Amino acid sequence: MRAKVLLIMTGGTISMVQNKQTGALCPASLTTFKHFVPELSEGDFHIEVMAFEPMIDSSDVRPEDWVRIAQAVSDHYNEYDGFVILHGTDTMSYSASALSFMLENLSKPVVFTGSQLPVGVLRSDAKENLLTAIEIAAAKKSDGTAMVPEVTIFFEARLFRANRTTKRNAEHFSAFNSYNYSPLAQAGVHITYNESQIHYPKEEASFCLHTQMDTHVAVLKLFPGIEESVVEAILHIPDLKAVVLETYGAGNAPSCEWLYQQLKAATERGIILVNKTQCNTGSVDMQLYDVSRNLLKAGVISGYDITTEALLTKLMYLLGTYPKDKEQIKSLLQRPLAGELTIH
Ligand code: ASP
Repeated sequence: MRAKVLLIMTGGTISMVQNKQTGALCPASLTTFKHFVPELSEGDFHIEVMAFEPMIDSSDVRPEDWVRIAQAVSDHYNEYDGFVILHGTDTMSYSASALSFMLENLSKPVVFTGSQLPVGVLRSDAKENLLTAIEIAAAKKSDGTAMVPEVTIFFEARLFRANRTTKRNAEHFSAFNSYNYSPLAQAGVHITYNESQIHYPKEEASFCLHTQMDTHVAVLKLFPGIEESVVEAILHIPDLKAVVLETYGAGNAPSCEWLYQQLKAATERGIILVNKTQCNTGSVDMQLYDVSRNLLKAGVISGYDITTEALLTKLMYLLGTYPKDKEQIKSLLQRPLAGELTIH
């Protein structure tokens, strides 16, 4: 029997055409897209298509859109072997990270992909990315279970765990990277799966959809010369619940007394502060240098080797799901929920 895949199109360059008057790229219609990819109706798989109306540039994506995608996967969960989400590259890592938390105990593949050039352009990477993503969404192990039952991003020959990715290049076809976790698969002549890196769910755990996302979060990026007034303004944003504190190196921050006092006062007001290094590769270790011990004393918790995209969306998910339980949120931040961090 042919595997069944649901293709959910949200927009992005992959599905855009050039506006003849302005020269700018804008969303195409579903009919135009299908015209460029006849393989959708004649391939080895049974593919059904569902499209956002209108399709959007991913710079316009909001948590409500994550809920729409997650709800669509959940509504059709039992009808399909796998799901492919077409999405713009600009915020794909955010959306795919969010879904990795919203879709708990996945036993089917949810593969995000897009392209750097629109589907109708001769040198476009669109078809290769899309058709390989469909093949991955349909792939099964010999026992009939899904080969990659995770939320992933497939882009230019590599399949990544979604919540480990960052968009790193606005020019090259290889737009994404996963700095702290090896690819789950490599596509060449054959698709080679790295099974030891793939997470397989426990049999008894059943699929569960979460749709409450709380956006009262902020990112505070440190830089040499940052003024106290900047830190103070961010930490006093009305209704703020959690902050991603982007620090240096292994999670270090200036040792000045005012910073310590501002951070300590924020945690005492109940704001959750999580330490995320500005480095792409490596992990936060607040025991390593004297300057970071102040952060520990101020009540800042470690983000380990998580990406900013995964940390922000994990915070939104936890704040939305456990609105009354700060201690539970802090404890869940300290462990992987969907393979998003490694504690050494
Ligand atoms: N601006 C586009 C988007 O994110 C870029 C892309 O898809 O590559 O929707």
